[in-house]
Amino acid sequence: MTDKKQIGAVLVVGGGISGMQSALDLAESGYRVYLVEKKPAIGGTMARLDKTFPTNDCAMCTMSPKLVDVGRHLNIEIITGAELIGLEGEPGNFKAKVLQQARCVSLEKCIGCGACAEECPVKVDDDFDGGLGKRKAIYKLYAQATPNAYAVDKAKCLKLKNPKACGKCLKACPAEAIDHSMPDTTLELEVGAVVLSPGFDPMDGDLRGEFGWGIYQMF
Ligand SMILES: Cc1cc2nc3c(=O)[nH]c(=O)nc-3n(C[C@H](O)[C@H](O)[C@H](O)COP(=O)(O)OP(=O)(O)OC[C@H]3O[C@@H](n4cnc5c(N)ncnc54)[C@H](O)[C@@H]3O)c2cc1C
Repeated sequence: MTDKKQIGAVLVVGGGISGMQSALDLAESGYRVYLVEKKPAIGGTMARLDKTFPTNDCAMCTMSPKLVDVGRHLNIEIITGAELIGLEGEPGNFKAKVLQQARCVSLEKCIGCGACAEECPVKVDDDFDGGLGKRKAIYKLYAQATPNAYAVDKAKCLKLKNPKACGKCLKACPAEAIDHSMPDTTLELEVGAVVLSPGFDPMDGDLRGEFGWGIYQMF
C-alpha cells in the first residue's frame, strides 16, 4: 500500500438485507457510505418474502426498521437505479465510477401518492412478485419501498418511445415530480473500500433435476 491518503468512505454494492446491514454497521462506525442499488429501491429479495424460516416472522416486519434506519442515516447515501462500472486504485483509496439510470421522477419532489400509476395506461408483468401480478410503466417497486418514490420503466413508457403518444402521468402528478428528459448520470466516488453484496439470481431448475423441477406441479 502506498502513502496515499486513506478515504473514510465505503461503497456498498447491492441494497438487499446484507448490503443494508453492512451500510448501517459502517455508518454507525463513522464511515460515509454510498449504497448503490440497481433497482429503484433497496430491500432486495427479503422485501419479496412473506414469512421467513426459522422463526416464521413477517419478513417486512424484520426488514422495515432497517429500511427506515438506512433511509434516514446521515452517513448513508442511497443511490438507486445504479451500477458500478469502473473501479481503480488500491485498498484505502479507490475511485469508483457509478452509472445511474435516469429515474425520470424527482426523489425530492415525489410524494409517493401513486396518482401517476393510476393514470398510466401501460400494464406489464411485475417481476417483483414473479410475474404473478401487473404493474404500470411508472411504478414503485413495492408498497414500503425506500426511497418512497415512483420510477419510470424506460423500456415500457409510451412517452419515451414517442413524446406525443402519452404524458398522462405528467398531468396526474400533483407534485410536478416527473421529468422524462432526465439524463443518465455518471458519478465518480472516492472510497477506501468496496463491499459487494449483489445477492443471487434464480437458477435454471433443469440443471438440478434431483430437486424435482419439471416433475412436481408448481401451482
Ligand atoms: C423464495 C425464497 C424464500 C426464502 N426464504 C428464506 C427464509 O425463510 N429464511 C431465510 O433466512 N432466508 C430465506 N431466503 C433467503 C434470503 O432471502 C436471502 O438469503 C437474502 O435475502 C439474501 O440477501 P442479500 O442481501 O445477500 O441479497 P439480495 O436480497 O438478493 O439483495 C441483493 C441486492 O443487490 C442488487 N444488485 C445485484 N447486482 C447488483 C449490481 N451489479 N449493482 C447494484 N445492485 C445490484 C439486487 O438488485 C438486490 O437488491 C429465501 C430466499 C428465497 C428466494
